[in-house]
Amino acid sequence: MRCPACGSELAEMVVADLRVDVCRGGCGGIWFDHRELAKVDDREESAGESLLDVERSPDIKVDHGEPRICPRCGPPHTMTRHFYSPRREVEVDECSRCEGVWLDPGELATIRVQFADSAERQAEFRRYLDRMRQDAEEQMACEFGPPPPNGAPLPQSESLETPSLPLLLVRIFRFL
Ligand SMILES: [Zn+2]
Ligand SMILES: [Zn+2]
Repeated sequence: MRCPACGSELAEMVVADLRVDVCRGGCGGIWFDHRELAKVDDREESAGESLLDVERSPDIKVDHGEPRICPRCGPPHTMTRHFYSPRREVEVDECSRCEGVWLDPGELATIRVQFADSAERQAEFRRYLDRMRQDAEEQMACEFGPPPPNGAPLPQSESLETPSLPLLLVRIFRFL
């Protein structure tokens, strides 16, 4: 597989029960197939420590602006850049087709210090969903006013459309 960031050939690296693909001697990025990253993304998952320092060439600079091709699926499948957690500190490249994730150097280290373990990570995610739901309820109350008293007619159907709902869903699914 070719590195999606610098084009070098990726090398397989075995860490505990994981086989990841690293851009060793290139840009130093790491490719995780579906669900692999979840096994090393918290501080207490010690297997991830050996992935923090992939040897890289100082001469290779990567461009974060261009959409990247998924190394697993190949062209024309580009990856989407999105935040890895509700803390919005690290943006990762993810392929919506194979659900693999590409990390640039340094990103794994930042991801790993955010949460001690997966319970903490999930708790943060639940708080985020609760906040989203609360925001949505408040927004509905602003747009439509308080619910009508018993017996009053319901609002006209056109005002029942909630333009913010797709946006809300996008915001939620970014972190799943
Ligand atoms: Zn590379
Ligand atoms: Zn893919």
